[in-house]
Amino acid sequence: MITRSRKVSDYKQLTKELPTLRYVDPEYVYINLNTARCKEYTLNAKKGDRVKLGEIIGERKGLFFTQPIYSTVSGHIEDVVEKIDSTGITVECVRIKNDFKDTYHEDITDRPDSVIHNMSKEEIVEIVKEKGIVGLGGSGFPSYVKLDTDKDIHTVVINAVECEPYLSSDYRLIKDQPEDIFRGLTYIMQASGAKRGVIAVKKTKTELIEVLEREIARFNEWNIQIAKLDDYYPQGWENATFEQAIGVKVPVGTLPMDKGILGYNVSTCASIYEAVKHNLPITKRHLTVNGDAVKFPQNIRVRVGTSVRELIKLSDGYSEEADKIEVIIGGPMMGVSVENDDVVVTPTTTSVLVFHSVDHKEEPCVRCGSCVFSCPVDIQPVSIMNAVKRDDTVSLKELEANKCIECGLCAYVCTSKIHVTDYVRKGKQQIG
Ligand code: SF4
Ligand code: SF4
Repeated sequence: MITRSRKVSDYKQLTKELPTLRYVDPEYVYINLNTARCKEYTLNAKKGDRVKLGEIIGERKGLFFTQPIYSTVSGHIEDVVEKIDSTGITVECVRIKNDFKDTYHEDITDRPDSVIHNMSKEEIVEIVKEKGIVGLGGSGFPSYVKLDTDKDIHTVVINAVECEPYLSSDYRLIKDQPEDIFRGLTYIMQASGAKRGVIAVKKTKTELIEVLEREIARFNEWNIQIAKLDDYYPQGWENATFEQAIGVKVPVGTLPMDKGILGYNVSTCASIYEAVKHNLPITKRHLTVNGDAVKFPQNIRVRVGTSVRELIKLSDGYSEEADKIEVIIGGPMMGVSVENDDVVVTPTTTSVLVFHSVDHKEEPCVRCGSCVFSCPVDIQPVSIMNAVKRDDTVSLKELEANKCIECGLCAYVCTSKIHVTDYVRKGKQQIG
């Protein structure tokens, strides 16, 4: 929850114009084997085995899908250890010692543009599935599932809004790799048959708009537009993005595909490019280290599996003792607060924020209604909180707690410092 006195825009400003640090060589990577979505896994490598960069070493199992597990370095398998992942849960991770040779697996080869140009929807979907591409904006949802839709898709929207305060990793990605984003978008349009592509970005990001408009000239055989959106939170919430970018309202609880839209986060779009063009799984990502208790806030291009503790050291460490700080993985509104920094970077880790810890002691609800007025999906956070306290599942269903997008606004505006979002999250879990 943001309780800092400094203006949040100051902190985006601190990192967004700094060159991205290319830190790609940790001595060890820790590849998470299970996730919140995939409780089970198989590991097809044992201690001492040599693995290559981009080699499949196992498989995760979700409810309706499986996901290959890839090594993000070349080196040796050492052990399976427990770490915290980007959703704040403890997961099992395979520790791989980096040999610093970056020996790529034989499968990692470029596809000529002429081959890609003639690929069918099924072929592109299969690559996205095989390479384990997931929503890198934080959702972790398998990207191929959306792409495999049988609905008529008219528009693909790339969400480059990055509305959470303090985060600038998507901003840096667009500045560093604009061509990858446009190419990824054309691959998604080719697979889905969409006639229009839209890249949605905040209208206040004039430097980014310049970059995108320069790049668009190279893709003039495609119908691609830049949508300039208002700068407010949560403009990056998919439904809000669609409404302002292309004027289509997607009611909460329905799927964008039903309205002929496919939406992807901008980092996911770049990873789809890497999968189709280079046959690469997600081995690296842009990540923001920021907050008022880290000495050198910056963006880092980091290998998946890197220890967050190392990234903090690279950022000159904490400006406070460990017991006086709070580490958040993800944005300040939707991220999770973790017990310590023994966390590993997964494909969905957008940022690591470190703040001076503040007193979060809750006071009684004063029934001001601020949480209700601020809720973007028009549910009643305070009533849901009270139903959670009463363990009243019937009311939770009636109050449609499951519509909550966990944007964090109800907690942010609460005058009594009540962790309202946590209660609503609990309510969602209670009704499944
Ligand atoms: S987190 Fe709170 S404000 Fe946001 S959608 Fe859920 S209930 Fe509404
Ligand atoms: S904002 Fe906080 S104090 Fe106001 S009604 Fe909601 S829970 Fe109660």
